[in-house]
Amino acid sequence: MRTWRRIIFWAGLLIPLPVSTAPAEVSSRMFRGTGMPYDAFDELHTMTLHIGGATQTIAFAPGPLGLTQGRILEWLKTSAKAVTTYYGKFPVPSAKILIVPVEGEGVEGGQAFGYRGPAIRLLVGDFTTEEDLVADWKAVHEMVHLALPDVSPDHLWLAEGLAVYIEPIARVQAGDLKPEKIWADMVRDMPKGLPRVGDKGLDHTHTWGRTYWGGAIFCLLADIAFRERSHNKIGLQQAMRGVVAAGGTHDQDWPIERILKVADRSAGYPVMEELYAKMRDKPYAPDLAKLWTDLGVTPSGNTVTFSQTAPLAQIREAITTPPRDSL
Ligand SMILES: [Zn+2]
Repeated sequence: MRTWRRIIFWAGLLIPLPVSTAPAEVSSRMFRGTGMPYDAFDELHTMTLHIGGATQTIAFAPGPLGLTQGRILEWLKTSAKAVTTYYGKFPVPSAKILIVPVEGEGVEGGQAFGYRGPAIRLLVGDFTTEEDLVADWKAVHEMVHLALPDVSPDHLWLAEGLAVYIEPIARVQAGDLKPEKIWADMVRDMPKGLPRVGDKGLDHTHTWGRTYWGGAIFCLLADIAFRERSHNKIGLQQAMRGVVAAGGTHDQDWPIERILKVADRSAGYPVMEELYAKMRDKPYAPDLAKLWTDLGVTPSGNTVTFSQTAPLAQIREAITTPPRDSL
C-alpha cells in the first residue's frame, strides 16, 4: 500500500474520517490480528440489536461484502435468538460484534473475547451467499462462548465442548434445525473426540479432536446424567443457565472447579464434578455406539431415524425441546 494512503488511514482513526473508505487490505491487517480491536468501535459506524434482554452493538470493518448489511444483521439476530432460547436470555447484557469482510465464501471464522467486555469477531467472506448464512453455525458457537467464564488453556476443552454441543441444540430449540440433522452430525463427529493411544485425559491432551469433540462428549454425557438423575426434568441447559445467573460469563475468569460446582449446584446433582474426575486425567472412552442405540438414534444413509421405545428416547427428545420458559 502506498504510504500516503496509510497516513490517511491512520489519520482517519485519529480525527475520525470515515474509515469505511479505507482499502480492504488495511482491514485484513488491522482487524484480523490476534486481539479484539475494541477501539475500532469508536471509529466505525455501528448498529444495535436488542435481543434476549441484551444490546448487541454491531460494527462492520471496511471491505466488500456480497450480502447487504441488513442481511448480515438478520443472521446475527437469528443466531442471538437461538442462544437466547437456550439460555433463557442473551448471556451477557451487552456485546460488541465486529464483522470483518475477508476473501472467500461463507463465514470463515470467529472468535469470542472478554478481556475488555464481551465481544465477538466474525470473518465473513465477500462471496458469502444467503445459503451460507442459513447454514452457518459459527455465530451461534461464538455467542455460546459468551455464556462461560474464560478458562485456562488446560480447560479449553470445556469451553469448546460446550460451544460444539450447545450450538446445534440451541438452533433446534429455536426451530432453525431439525433434530435428525444434529444427531446425525453427533453420530458422525463424536468419535473424533474419543481418546487415542497415549491419551492423558481432557486436561492434558490438547489435540483438536479431544478439545472440540472430547469436550462435546463430556457435555453429552453430563446432559444425559443430569436427566437420568432428575427423571428427565433437569439437563445441562439448566446447569449452564445457573453459571450465567451466577455471573459466570466470558468477561470473567473462573477456575474450572468453580464453573462445575456452580453448574452442578444449579442443577441439583454433582454430575459435572463427577464426570470431570473421571475424564480429566484418564482416557475415559464411553461406548458411543451403545449410547446411540440407547438414545434411539439409528444411522440411515447421511441422516438418522429415531426409535421412541429406546431406553433413553425421552431424554433424547427432551434435549432438543425448548424449556417452557424459553422465548
Ligand atoms: Zn470455540
